[in-house]
Amino acid sequence: MTTIAKDSAVLFNYTLTDEEGTVIDQSPEGQPLAYLHGHANIIPGLESQLEGKSAGDKLQAVVAPADGYGEYHDQAVQEIPRENFQGVEDIQPGMQFQSQSGDQVMLVTVKDVNDEIVTVDANHPLAGKTLTFDVEITEVREATAEELSHGHVHGAGGVQH
Ligand code: ZN
Repeated sequence: MTTIAKDSAVLFNYTLTDEEGTVIDQSPEGQPLAYLHGHANIIPGLESQLEGKSAGDKLQAVVAPADGYGEYHDQAVQEIPRENFQGVEDIQPGMQFQSQSGDQVMLVTVKDVNDEIVTVDANHPLAGKTLTFDVEITEVREATAEELSHGHVHGAGGVQH
Protein backbone atom coordinates (compact mmCIF):
# COMPACT_ATOMS: atom_id res chain seq x y z
CA MET A 1 0.00 0.00 0.00
CA THR A 2 1.23 3.44 -0.89
CA THR A 3 2.05 5.54 2.14
CA ILE A 4 2.36 9.30 2.26
CA ALA A 5 5.91 10.52 1.68
CA LYS A 6 7.59 13.39 -0.13
CA ASP A 7 6.09 13.87 -3.61
CA SER A 8 2.93 11.87 -2.85
CA ALA A 9 -0.29 13.21 -4.29
CA VAL A 10 -2.82 12.92 -1.46
CA LEU A 11 -6.58 13.37 -1.33
CA PHE A 12 -8.33 13.73 2.01
CA ASN A 13 -11.61 14.77 3.59
CA TYR A 14 -11.34 17.02 6.60
CA THR A 15 -13.30 18.89 9.22
CA LEU A 16 -11.51 21.73 10.97
CA THR A 17 -12.62 22.81 14.45
CA ASP A 18 -11.27 25.39 16.91
CA GLU A 19 -10.70 25.03 20.68
CA GLU A 20 -14.41 25.50 21.35
CA GLY A 21 -15.34 22.72 18.94
CA THR A 22 -16.83 25.15 16.42
CA VAL A 23 -16.50 23.94 12.83
CA ILE A 24 -14.38 26.51 10.97
CA ASP A 25 -14.02 24.73 7.65
CA GLN A 26 -14.61 21.37 6.02
CA SER A 27 -14.22 19.72 2.66
CA PRO A 28 -17.53 19.51 0.79
CA GLU A 29 -19.24 16.10 0.86
CA GLY A 30 -17.58 13.80 -1.68
CA GLN A 31 -15.01 16.43 -2.69
CA PRO A 32 -11.73 15.69 -0.91
CA LEU A 33 -8.90 18.21 -1.00
CA ALA A 34 -5.80 17.27 -2.99
CA TYR A 35 -2.26 18.33 -2.08
CA LEU A 36 1.32 17.50 -2.95
CA HIS A 37 3.13 16.20 0.12
CA GLY A 38 6.38 17.96 1.02
CA HIS A 39 5.66 21.10 -1.01
CA ALA A 40 4.11 23.36 1.65
CA ASN A 41 0.66 23.15 0.05
CA ILE A 42 -0.91 22.78 3.51
CA ILE A 43 0.13 23.98 6.96
CA PRO A 44 3.23 22.20 8.32
CA GLY A 45 1.58 20.90 11.50
CA LEU A 46 -1.00 19.00 9.48
CA GLU A 47 1.38 17.83 6.76
CA SER A 48 3.81 16.29 9.26
CA GLN A 49 1.03 14.26 10.92
CA LEU A 50 -0.11 12.82 7.58
CA GLU A 51 3.34 11.45 6.77
CA GLY A 52 3.33 7.64 6.60
CA LYS A 53 -0.45 7.31 6.43
CA SER A 54 -2.30 5.60 3.62
CA ALA A 55 -5.69 5.57 1.91
CA GLY A 56 -8.49 4.63 4.30
CA ASP A 57 -6.67 5.94 7.39
CA LYS A 58 -8.57 8.26 9.70
CA LEU A 59 -6.85 10.48 12.21
CA GLN A 60 -7.28 13.53 14.37
CA ALA A 61 -4.46 16.04 14.00
CA VAL A 62 -4.16 18.77 16.62
CA VAL A 63 -2.04 21.66 15.39
CA ALA A 64 -0.56 24.35 17.65
CA PRO A 65 -0.53 27.96 16.36
CA ALA A 66 3.22 27.89 15.64
CA ASP A 67 2.71 24.93 13.26
CA GLY A 68 -0.48 26.37 11.81
CA TYR A 69 -1.22 29.99 10.96
CA GLY A 70 1.20 31.50 13.44
CA GLU A 71 0.94 33.15 16.83
CA TYR A 72 -1.29 36.16 17.28
CA HIS A 73 0.76 39.38 17.22
CA ASP A 74 -0.76 42.41 18.94
CA GLN A 75 1.52 44.71 16.94
CA ALA A 76 -0.16 43.53 13.73
CA VAL A 77 -3.24 45.49 14.84
CA GLN A 78 -3.01 49.03 13.50
CA GLU A 79 -5.07 52.18 13.48
CA ILE A 80 -5.33 53.80 10.08
CA PRO A 81 -6.88 57.20 9.30
CA ARG A 82 -10.32 56.83 7.74
CA GLU A 83 -9.23 59.17 4.93
CA ASN A 84 -6.81 56.47 3.68
CA PHE A 85 -9.84 54.44 2.64
CA GLN A 86 -11.05 56.87 0.00
CA GLY A 87 -13.47 55.36 -2.44
CA VAL A 88 -14.77 52.89 0.11
CA GLU A 89 -18.17 54.16 1.20
CA ASP A 90 -19.17 51.72 3.87
CA ILE A 91 -16.50 50.13 6.07
CA GLN A 92 -17.72 47.47 8.47
CA PRO A 93 -15.96 45.21 10.99
CA GLY A 94 -15.11 41.90 9.36
CA MET A 95 -14.41 43.39 5.93
CA GLN A 96 -11.06 42.46 4.41
CA PHE A 97 -8.70 44.66 2.44
CA GLN A 98 -5.40 44.16 0.70
CA SER A 99 -2.70 46.33 2.13
CA GLN A 100 0.57 46.98 0.33
CA SER A 101 3.78 47.55 2.26
CA GLY A 102 6.90 47.45 0.12
CA ASP A 103 6.38 44.53 -2.28
CA GLN A 104 4.41 42.54 0.30
CA VAL A 105 0.66 42.32 -0.12
CA MET A 106 -1.12 41.53 3.12
CA LEU A 107 -4.74 40.78 3.79
CA VAL A 108 -6.06 42.80 6.72
CA THR A 109 -9.38 42.46 8.51
CA VAL A 110 -11.29 45.46 9.86
CA LYS A 111 -11.77 45.08 13.62
CA ASP A 112 -13.32 48.42 14.44
CA VAL A 113 -14.27 51.63 12.68
CA ASN A 114 -15.33 55.13 13.63
CA ASP A 115 -15.47 58.47 11.80
CA GLU A 116 -11.70 59.03 11.97
CA ILE A 117 -9.99 55.73 12.58
CA VAL A 118 -10.17 52.27 11.05
CA THR A 119 -8.60 49.57 13.22
CA VAL A 120 -7.27 46.72 11.08
CA ASP A 121 -5.73 43.38 12.01
CA ALA A 122 -3.07 41.83 9.75
CA ASN A 123 -3.01 38.55 11.67
CA HIS A 124 -4.33 35.56 9.74
CA PRO A 125 -7.92 34.96 10.92
CA LEU A 126 -6.74 31.62 12.36
CA ALA A 127 -3.56 32.99 13.99
CA GLY A 128 -3.20 32.06 17.66
CA LYS A 129 -5.71 29.23 17.41
CA THR A 130 -5.07 25.58 18.17
CA LEU A 131 -6.70 23.72 15.29
CA THR A 132 -8.13 20.22 15.23
CA PHE A 133 -8.40 18.45 11.89
CA ASP A 134 -10.47 15.28 11.64
CA VAL A 135 -9.02 13.68 8.55
CA GLU A 136 -9.92 10.74 6.36
CA ILE A 137 -7.41 9.94 3.66
CA THR A 138 -9.12 8.81 0.48
CA GLU A 139 -6.28 8.39 -2.00
CA VAL A 140 -2.48 8.32 -2.07
CA ARG A 141 -0.55 8.05 -5.32
CA GLU A 142 2.73 9.14 -6.83
CA ALA A 143 2.60 12.61 -8.29
CA THR A 144 3.11 12.99 -12.03
CA ALA A 145 6.22 14.74 -13.39
CA GLU A 146 4.04 17.68 -14.38
CA GLU A 147 2.54 17.97 -10.89
CA LEU A 148 6.02 17.92 -9.37
CA SER A 149 7.23 20.66 -11.69
CA HIS A 150 4.19 22.79 -10.79
CA GLY A 151 4.40 22.02 -7.07
CA HIS A 152 0.72 21.06 -6.76
CA VAL A 153 -1.76 18.33 -7.62
CA HIS A 154 -3.90 18.53 -10.75
CA GLY A 155 -7.49 17.42 -11.23
CA ALA A 156 -10.35 16.99 -8.78
CA GLY A 157 -9.58 18.60 -5.41
CA GLY A 158 -6.39 20.15 -6.73
CA VAL A 159 -5.53 22.86 -9.23
CA GLN A 160 -7.44 22.71 -12.49
CA HIS A 161 -5.74 24.54 -15.33
ZN1 ZN B 1 -0.25 23.01 -12.29
